[in-house]
Amino acid sequence: MKNLKINNRFTAELPTDPELTNEVRQVKNTLFSFVNPTKPSNPKLVHASEEVAELVGISKDEIRSEEFLNTFSGKEIYPETQPFAMCYAGHQFGNWAGQLGDGRAINLTEVENNNQFYTLQLKGAGKTPYSRTADGLAVLRSSIREYLCAEAMHYLGVPTTRSLSLILSGDQVLRDVLYNGNPAYEKGAIVARVAPSFIRFGSFEMLTARNELKNLKQFVEFTIKHYFPEITGEPKEQYIQFFQKVADTTREMIVHWQRVGFVHGVMNTDNMSIHGITIDYGPYGWLENYDPNWTPNTTDSQNRRYRFGNQPSVAQWNLFQLANALYPLVNEAAPLEKILDSFMNNFEKDYKAMFLSKLGLFTSSETDDKIIKGLEEILQLSETDMTIFFRNLSQVKKEDSVEEAFRKIEFAFYLPEEIKEQILDAWQKWLSVYLKRLNSEILSDEERVIKMNAINPKYVLRNYMAQLAIDAADKEDYFLVDEFFQLLKNPYDEQPESEKWFAKRPDWARTNVGCSMLSCSS
Ligand code: AMP
Ligand code: MG
Repeated sequence: MKNLKINNRFTAELPTDPELTNEVRQVKNTLFSFVNPTKPSNPKLVHASEEVAELVGISKDEIRSEEFLNTFSGKEIYPETQPFAMCYAGHQFGNWAGQLGDGRAINLTEVENNNQFYTLQLKGAGKTPYSRTADGLAVLRSSIREYLCAEAMHYLGVPTTRSLSLILSGDQVLRDVLYNGNPAYEKGAIVARVAPSFIRFGSFEMLTARNELKNLKQFVEFTIKHYFPEITGEPKEQYIQFFQKVADTTREMIVHWQRVGFVHGVMNTDNMSIHGITIDYGPYGWLENYDPNWTPNTTDSQNRRYRFGNQPSVAQWNLFQLANALYPLVNEAAPLEKILDSFMNNFEKDYKAMFLSKLGLFTSSETDDKIIKGLEEILQLSETDMTIFFRNLSQVKKEDSVEEAFRKIEFAFYLPEEIKEQILDAWQKWLSVYLKRLNSEILSDEERVIKMNAINPKYVLRNYMAQLAIDAADKEDYFLVDEFFQLLKNPYDEQPESEKWFAKRPDWARTNVGCSMLSCSS
């Protein structure tokens, strides 16, 4: 790959694990261990993103080369690179979990292209010293979910890691999908993913928990120097600015999640990127009917810690853990607390602006809060599809009567027969307030539709769609993987030939494993 420009800053500058054996162990005084991917027995390229390839300096033709397949399946080590697994810790479901690390991710290298740096990482390429009791592998099912969703999120305008390629390993992987004692063999796969870096909140937490303060200082300074070069000033001032920056980008990411109805499912601190990008797609899901209490993750079904409506508070909680990790460098609680305290206020302001823009309301009014809260409540009275509701709301016109407006949104109801009496009444009241507001807006109907449609996607990777792609791929039919990949590149556009994907979740998918129920093995 002639334009792939290798530039390994992470491994060149940070303390490494002197041990080269691949045994599961506690790895101290280091940020990574060198480890080679496990060679797959018969790698086959399922899909690759030409855009992401180009981003990192790989041409379209090179994607089809043997070298690409070998490099991004882990079969061969690319010249001048030395793959490594990162050592980090984290809080899982609110509890300190100690050392975690890249148990099934292996970073191949950092590359430089057009003055940007990217880390190329394989997920599912075999065991590392951080694999704990697991196998370091990933199944085709979860790899398709990650591969497609990361790119769909990118095109929705949500900050995220990117997907470069999806490759079958040719090996079988044993998985107990629902942890109920029924393991079965599945096809193994490897996703190559790309990010500015894969540094997590948990990377810093680990060093502080182990009291490795010299390493902490070095690592924070390394991170700022290379990934946040805009941060300058006295060292302490820089650490505070760094925390502010992570808090800001994390907040922006969560506002986007709430805008498009994305539920991450496992917001542990080891799954939080310091770049404020969505990372580690596991048992994630998309809201179908608008329900702030919904989580796709069956592992979390008791407490629902990572439910849709809780994502903002969890982000703040996770930032609190990062603040604790940075504290030994700052030695002053007040500036970190100030940033944490302002997180929710700022979030609420941004959320409100985002929500109003989803409604096509761009001039503020005293009725803003009432209109938002009111809608959040009625959306839950009877199952209402979030994506369809907001998309179709743009069709409402200033001149419409309440009945006409209602007709434009009723396609979003899962159980139309329920929309009567109090529920119908509530909708009519809300629509009548909404119509009044529309009439006080300066924008014309035509102008508003354009703005609303750029915020409210028409197409998202609905849970059942991912499952359909998985079921077909299991039979070696990758048509749907490609169809969704292409469709979701333009999620805000009308694509008449794909109208069938602008549809409510079908009944079969309501309680289906893989659609509404996913576990951490996803
Ligand atoms: P997650 O919440 O899926 O991001 O993973 C939590 C931790 O478990 C991380 O340290 C992962 O690397 C590790 N892990 C998850 N799945 C596997 C696997 N199949 N093999 C080894 N480690 C894994
Ligand atoms: Mg993870």
